[in-house]
Amino acid sequence: MELYGLIGKKLEHSFSPGYFTKKFRELNLDADYRLFEIDTISKLPEIIQENKNLRGLNVTIPYKKDVLQFLDKMDHNAKQVGSVNTIKIDWRNDIPYLTGYNTDIIGFEQTVVPLIKERDIGHALILGTGGSAQAVAFVLNSLNIDFYFVSRNGNKPGILAYNNLDQGIISRHKLIINATPLGMFPNIENVPDIPFNSIGINHILYDLIYNPAETRFLKKGRQNGARILNGQKMLELQADASWKIWQE
Ligand code: NAP
Repeated sequence: MELYGLIGKKLEHSFSPGYFTKKFRELNLDADYRLFEIDTISKLPEIIQENKNLRGLNVTIPYKKDVLQFLDKMDHNAKQVGSVNTIKIDWRNDIPYLTGYNTDIIGFEQTVVPLIKERDIGHALILGTGGSAQAVAFVLNSLNIDFYFVSRNGNKPGILAYNNLDQGIISRHKLIINATPLGMFPNIENVPDIPFNSIGINHILYDLIYNPAETRFLKKGRQNGARILNGQKMLELQADASWKIWQE
């Protein structure tokens, strides 16, 4: 039986096991998807050695960067972004050979392109500067969309602080992406501190969070007439992309 899995610190609300178990059933595959909840990434080699049928892993918070030290090779895009959410494991004479990929890039690109199609979005704002914000930035660069990061430690070149966001900036940046965990279950009351009263019908608010389906960030955008999208489709597309990589 082939084994796939997810490594991370807290995995109780993970989307992946249900998603892959359903996929295996549909494909009539003798495969399993297991959660590996670890308190330190140094446990990774042990997990791999103990599971010689392991073919692929997804990686989630907080190990997307820490995992790089264990890889034999990284795909070009993952290297650019500096984080990995998918590992392909090839066994060569009982020795595992690990290649890292970042399928958040694929998931975000495939969802943002149709969203901005035929719309004059001007520039973009990426809220947060963490791993997923870097993947979003990589895609926006590849699409030639100018952007600023917005950070709690902003007010430096390329990075705004939340208190820099006035009406003028919001009106010039029509695509606003929440790449922070603010508003994610169970802390659903949280919301990024941006002036929502400057958001209008020409704005697009994209939240990478998928639980809840409508965060306060998206709700406030919708109430001001903006087009909104949550992270569910991105999540599904990044999982599809991982599966494709494991099958190559
Ligand atoms: P992360 O590495 O922990 O970074 C999030 C960034 O958010 C931080 O670097 C920080 O930027 C900012 N931030 C953190 N706490 C904050 C707070 N209390 N107030 C304001 N800003 C705060 O997380 P991540 O891996 O990038 O993930 C971010 C979100 O995206 C999560 O909710 C995750 O579930 C979601 N996500 C979704 C998908 C998908 O497929 N839909 C994929 C990846 C991630 P500053 O320090 O610069 O302010």
